Amino acid sequence: MADRYEEFRSEMIALLRDSRYIDILNFQLRSNEGPNIHIYPNAYRGVADAIERGIITIVCIDYFDDEFVQAGYINGLNAFIFKRSDVNEQKVQRALIIHEATHAAIDREGIGIHNAYLNEAAAYIAQAAVVLHNIHTHTQRRRANEYLREDSIRRQALRYAVRLVRRNPTFNFDAVELEPLLRVLRRYYKYDSYESDTFFSRIMTQRVRELSLDLIRQRGHI
Ligand SMILES: [Zn+2]
Repeated sequence: MADRYEEFRSEMIALLRDSRYIDILNFQLRSNEGPNIHIYPNAYRGVADAIERGIITIVCIDYFDDEFVQAGYINGLNAFIFKRSDVNEQKVQRALIIHEATHAAIDREGIGIHNAYLNEAAAYIAQAAVVLHNIHTHTQRRRANEYLREDSIRRQALRYAVRLVRRNPTFNFDAVELEPLLRVLRRYYKYDSYESDTFFSRIMTQRVRELSLDLIRQRGHI
């Protein structure tokens, strides 16, 4: 099968500039421990520009060690990671791209030490908003429900995010309503806060990139 890398890259840039999807994404998550996370449409346009300028790269790998991992964004590399077969077979969902692009948007903001769980919550909320936005017919609703029912950690997190956005389509939820989603993330994702203020100063040699990709393959989703 022909490699769709360049085509996918262009589609991704176009999606991150597409008002139909990104103009609905405007919310803030408040943190007690670090800066609040603010997600807004132009943050995605900024990510699109960074891809175009080569500041963010898109990397395809053959597999993730964890079979449930579909994609990732690696702060330390400014890189999106996708599975090559998904890219070639056009299986990468828009909502998933938005999830990873939300991580990239937060990384690009570069405002210091973020709470990693809030970062993850923001990505799931944006993903959920796009999932809901794409449902227009009964068939689409049935498919979305089937997808969400799947028994994996990431689907469970997405289910909580969908519930949250369904109840609060304008994202006016408070910390109490956000808590169930954060609880799921804390249970399964193991990481601490991370620094996101080095986005524009990343200089990666090819060798470091390759070594890091080996690590990504083993660790899976970031
Ligand atoms: Zn994520």
